[in-house]
Amino acid sequence: MRSNLAGPRLLLRRLREVMAEPILAQERLDKIVVLIASNVVAEVCSVYILRADGVLELYATEGLNREAVHNASLRVGQGLVGLIAAEARPLNLPNASAHPGFTYLPETGEEAYNSFLGVPILRAGRTLGVLVVQNQSHRTYLEDEVEALQTTAMVIAEMVAAGELEAISQKATGLDLSRPITSTGTGLSEGVGLGHVVLHEPRVVITNLIAEDTDRENLRLDGAINRLRLSIDDLLASGEIAATGEHREVLEAYRMFAYDRGWIRKIEEAIRNGLTAEAAVEKVQSDTRARMLRQTDPYLRERLHDLDDLAHRLIRELMGREHGPSHDELPQDAIIVGRNMGAAELLDYGRDRIRGLVLEEGGPTSHVTIVARALGIPMVGLVHDIVGLADGGDAIIVDGDTGEVHLRPATDLENAYAEKVRFRARRQAQYRRLRNKPSVTRDGVEFSLQMNAGLLVDLPHLAESGAAGVGLFRTELQFMVASSFPRMREQQAQYTQVLDAADGKPVTFRSLDIGGDKVLPYLRSIQEENPAMGWRALRLGLDRPGLLRTQIRALLHAAAGRELKLMFPMVSEVREFLQAKELVDKELKHLRRHGHGTPDTIRLGVMIEVPSLLFQLEELMSYVDFVSVGSNDLFQFFCAVDRGNTRVADRFDTLSVGFLRALKSIADAANKAHVPVTLCGELAGRPLEAMALIGLGYRDLSMSPASLGPVKAMLRTLDAGRLSARLLPRLEPGHGDSNIRDVLKRFATDMDVAL
Ligand code: PEP
Ligand code: MG
Repeated sequence: MRSNLAGPRLLLRRLREVMAEPILAQERLDKIVVLIASNVVAEVCSVYILRADGVLELYATEGLNREAVHNASLRVGQGLVGLIAAEARPLNLPNASAHPGFTYLPETGEEAYNSFLGVPILRAGRTLGVLVVQNQSHRTYLEDEVEALQTTAMVIAEMVAAGELEAISQKATGLDLSRPITSTGTGLSEGVGLGHVVLHEPRVVITNLIAEDTDRENLRLDGAINRLRLSIDDLLASGEIAATGEHREVLEAYRMFAYDRGWIRKIEEAIRNGLTAEAAVEKVQSDTRARMLRQTDPYLRERLHDLDDLAHRLIRELMGREHGPSHDELPQDAIIVGRNMGAAELLDYGRDRIRGLVLEEGGPTSHVTIVARALGIPMVGLVHDIVGLADGGDAIIVDGDTGEVHLRPATDLENAYAEKVRFRARRQAQYRRLRNKPSVTRDGVEFSLQMNAGLLVDLPHLAESGAAGVGLFRTELQFMVASSFPRMREQQAQYTQVLDAADGKPVTFRSLDIGGDKVLPYLRSIQEENPAMGWRALRLGLDRPGLLRTQIRALLHAAAGRELKLMFPMVSEVREFLQAKELVDKELKHLRRHGHGTPDTIRLGVMIEVPSLLFQLEELMSYVDFVSVGSNDLFQFFCAVDRGNTRVADRFDTLSVGFLRALKSIADAANKAHVPVTLCGELAGRPLEAMALIGLGYRDLSMSPASLGPVKAMLRTLDAGRLSARLLPRLEPGHGDSNIRDVLKRFATDMDVAL
């Protein structure tokens, strides 16, 4: 059948006139449905808008009973209209009642109509309603009619987004766009943040949807596509990114889409139908996003994400917008919401105005997470579709402890969280008061509580937390957040700053622990079956001594005239330590030969994080100046549980008798040989676990700065002698306890220990 369409461009031109009229929203919508019906020559045209309670309410109709407006409604998923909303795709049916999803609404009088065409009203991939036309005859609507209806739906979407339709709903229910949403992701950095959404890559709001001159819009599109292609080609050719790896893959995918005729043809078609170039890109993008939300295959979803990003860039090209909001434009309580971001981008925002971070991606070891933790920014990752759901300026709560994100929260919830924030602040204030109090137990045993660090942004915590020093400085973090290999001078500058900031307090540097899950984007990574047990840390350092020697040289320079404490990660055999020590000696000789200053004292140590060392403790103690237990890795290898895999990691308890015996054997061997021993894994920062370590004989613990307060509060209320007396017999064979968590908890309750 021939199309009765008088031309989508004519329709759009009329729509523009209606949009410009100074009339009320209901009247405007009534005019729009009349206009569409006459343009498509349909007997019926209806608009359904999605309310916050998941109901699609009939908002306007031409052809159905007028009394049904604001009275007839369907749930999402119910009937054909509900199906379109649920699946966010058009339905084009010559005989609607034959469709299994058909539901008849008697109040509308729609029984007389056979053919049915409905399209979702989409904005940024989100369904806001459904637009329908119907005819008595059995007809299949043509491709360009579907296109025209989709284009009109975009205009209605803008009316919804502008808030025009909120007030005229029959029920006093808000629209779906303003619905409170709670999503659960993964808590990546603890703490709670209340504030307002700042989109990391804000959607550009397109106000000019309808073109005045189609030829001009085509020219604008051509120009923008050319600029976009050039910028991607430039990036790929610039050599700034590694020849292989994730970055390159993404850019290659961008390039593929930027040259994809199918994609560009769709945009051109939308311009032909009367949209401006940017509105045309957005229309195609909205379609892509809707497909993306339905897509379950992770690879295809990823590619649709790439296409979405590219459309975004193209809109920016067309509208001449720069990237992201500037620092001064940020609200005082910004919560950054994005798909993903690099560590450097987070640092660019500046700490002072950021209350939280929410990402669709991000993992516990991703660089941006490391930086968020270092800055103390509550963060939740792996939050499904949050970018599509959130709008700039929406109220939002981030709970980094539970992994929950509450978008547009109800007032009660907001009040409850505000109370939680105040409670945390009070507790923090209590901990701060302990800052300058000595770390001594009730029975007079003295402790050294140090902090872990890895970035310059960590250093102010040294004074704020009252830590006795830096017990673990993870040098690889500087390498992980950089975009290219830090040179010797850059490394030296960082180490100098660290030592200066420590102002005489001891700092224990750890040589590079890269490899495994700690990947550098610019370093070609090799695929390994078991990266945690692969070519990482000191193994890599000894096989590629150039890297390790450069680092050692930078450290020796930085510590000239002061003390240098350096330890090596992932040592499995004493021999490896001796080889590393030899490299230090060589560098030292080299510096002396060239008349450079050298450290006053050099103390070299080993991290005990591979179980094989447990059976070489005596020899080890005879060579080292100190040891530090890396309990994160030691536990992973001791129990054969991947530390990043929650499916297995939660099965085993770090307070199991077997592991505690292992930790005790280290403390015993070190104390016997008078070798200083520290424990710097996450265990040290949890009050109950730290209590167990004290019972085992550890006197020096290093932890994240935020843990210092709670651990010190525990320690100052503890009787270490009585604890050991209660704990140690339980570790003897024949006691029947496999886990002493309960024993410790009971002790804490009995003895009033502040946990
Ligand atoms: C450890 O393994 O316990 C440790 C402190 O090092 P990292 O967490 O950096 O591997
Ligand atoms: Mg480790």
